Amino acid sequence: MTTLKQKWGIGADIMLISGPCSAESREQLLQTASALKSTGKVHALRAGIWKPRTRPDSFEGIGKAALPWLVEAGGITELPVITEVALASHVEACLKAGISGMWIGARTAANPFSVQEIADALRGVDIPVLVKNPINADLALWIGAIERVKKAGIHHVAAIHRGFSVHGARLFRNMPMWEIAIALRAHFPGIEVICDPSHIAGKRELVGNVAQYALDLNYDGLMIESHCNPDAALSDKEQQLLPADLEKLIDSLTSRSTGTGPEDYANALRNLRASIDRIDFQILQLLAERMGKIEELGLHKKENNIAILQMERWQEILNTRTEWGREMGVNPDFLQKILEQIHSESIRRQNAVLSSKENPSEA
Ligand code: PEP
Ligand code: MN
Repeated sequence: MTTLKQKWGIGADIMLISGPCSAESREQLLQTASALKSTGKVHALRAGIWKPRTRPDSFEGIGKAALPWLVEAGGITELPVITEVALASHVEACLKAGISGMWIGARTAANPFSVQEIADALRGVDIPVLVKNPINADLALWIGAIERVKKAGIHHVAAIHRGFSVHGARLFRNMPMWEIAIALRAHFPGIEVICDPSHIAGKRELVGNVAQYALDLNYDGLMIESHCNPDAALSDKEQQLLPADLEKLIDSLTSRSTGTGPEDYANALRNLRASIDRIDFQILQLLAERMGKIEELGLHKKENNIAILQMERWQEILNTRTEWGREMGVNPDFLQKILEQIHSESIRRQNAVLSSKENPSEA
């Protein structure tokens, strides 16, 4: 089984896929594709032709009529070209046109019926399929979408991490929640994961930061939107980059090695990792000890018929720990998340104690 990089003959550590959010005209696509080719950095082209837009009356893509432009762009640049599919009819049209690969978009990945329809249309075909994370932060749904495609017999399945939709004002258009992509990699060891910093960032000024973060986490590739005239783009204009700016951005990135580095560093790294293992072990021991105390507390509450949740106590825990954390230099947001997790596990455990049938009065 080869990787997508091997299939497309990409020798670079980071596979770079770029192209416009949408193919808007033959000229726009060919101009963008040729400019990308001349940067010498791009390994595959992307362009959407069926655009699942959040609101009606937005530009929904050119559709099937743009397929010959994509094929032409691939021919001129000698690069693989991929597009988004959401229905079986899209898959059929792409296969007929001779497109090099397809991706399943975030809105489609969230719908198992749609993913299954696509998978069924792909059965018996050997074409790369890239599966974006679903818009909602649901790891199982992302895993399920990849499984459906794999079960259809597709050999080259990669994942695209494009962030997760949340309500309200925020820095990024979609929250990266890196831990979900890390969990996906742990679930599918060896799967190639490509970061889409354009859809995470939503603004071109932030694309570079997100891309660097992905490289720091050892991603296999980047998918970055680019356009020959971003300000006139019909979709996602704030996040698309001029091909020349993409080139600068790629040059500014630092790629990280997957190994441990030269011998001296390797020794230092080994020692540090040994210390981290020891500390993690201690953290776990303390957590287990804390949970033991929680069970005792649960028994006491049960005997005395006391409610599990005491808001003043929870408030006091939050206040004191946040203060201790501040003194120790622990990030307060991070600390709050940990405390909430510990607290909800404590409640769950006490609940189990309270609802157990050991109490004769309940027998
Ligand atoms: C896209 O890649 O242009 C796109 C629509 O992405 P997503 O499915 O991640 O929103
Ligand atoms: Mn887009």
